[in-house]
Amino acid sequence: MITQKSKREIELMRKAGEIVALAHQAVAKAIRPGITTYEIDQIVEKVILDNQATPSFKGYNGFPSATCTSVNDVLVHGFPSKQILKEGDIISVDIGACYKGYHGDSAWTYAVGKVSKEAEHLMYVTEQSLYEGLKIVKAGVHLSDVSNTIGEYVYSFGYSVPYEYTGHGIGASLHEDPAIPNYGPKGKGPILKAGMTLAIEPMVHRGKPFTKVMDDDWTVKTKDGSLAAHYEHTVLVTEDGCEILTTISKEETLLNG
Ligand code: MG
Ligand code: MG
Repeated sequence: MITQKSKREIELMRKAGEIVALAHQAVAKAIRPGITTYEIDQIVEKVILDNQATPSFKGYNGFPSATCTSVNDVLVHGFPSKQILKEGDIISVDIGACYKGYHGDSAWTYAVGKVSKEAEHLMYVTEQSLYEGLKIVKAGVHLSDVSNTIGEYVYSFGYSVPYEYTGHGIGASLHEDPAIPNYGPKGKGPILKAGMTLAIEPMVHRGKPFTKVMDDDWTVKTKDGSLAAHYEHTVLVTEDGCEILTTISKEETLLNG
C-alpha cells in the first residue's frame, strides 16, 4: 500500500531530508584525492548525529555503515573502507537519515579531482535523468510515466539502467511501496496522489545493464566493469508538481510548484 503522509509526517520528513542534504554538503567539501571512503562515512555520520538523527542504513539488514560509498564500476551498496580515492575516480555516496522516526534518502555521484570526459558525461546524464523524471511527478500521473521518462532519457545516450535496483516509497520505513524502476512502459502502475513521498533514484551504467554481487554479499558492480552513476532525491508529491525534501537549495525545493 502506498501511504499519503499527514502534515506532521511531512514536517518530519522535511527535517530528515534537510539533514541528508547537509551531510551531502559536507561530503562535497571533503571529497578529494587521498581521502578514504571510511573518512567520508565518518563525516556523514557526524552530521547526522549532530542533528539529532540516526543513520538509516547502519544496521539495516546488517549493513555496517552510515553511508554507501560506491566507486567507479560499483553501482550501489559499496561500504566504507580503507580504500583511498584517487584523481579521476567517481564515487556515488548514498545517505539516509532518520529523524523522529521518518527517513530521508539521497544519493549523489561525485568526481574526485579531474575525471575523464566519459565519466563526466555519465554523471551529467544520470543527474539530468533524475530531474527529467521529477519534472513529470505530480498528482494524477501514472507512476510508470516517471520510470519511462527516466529510462528513455538514459537510453537516448546509449547508456543502460540495471533491472534489479529501483527507487521506492519512503516514510516511517526506509523502503515502502511502490518500487520505482528506472525504465518501463508508460501508463501503468499506481496513480500518484498528493502527500505520497517517493525516493526516485536513477542508477545508470555506461555499458550493459547487467550487475553482479560481490562475495561480501553487499557490493554491487556492473558485470562488464563499465562505470556507474547514481543520483537520488526524496520528494513529496503535490497537486501540481513535487517538493524535493533532500535539498537545502531554495530554488530546487519547489520544482514545479
Ligand atoms: Mg539511497
Ligand atoms: Mg533509496
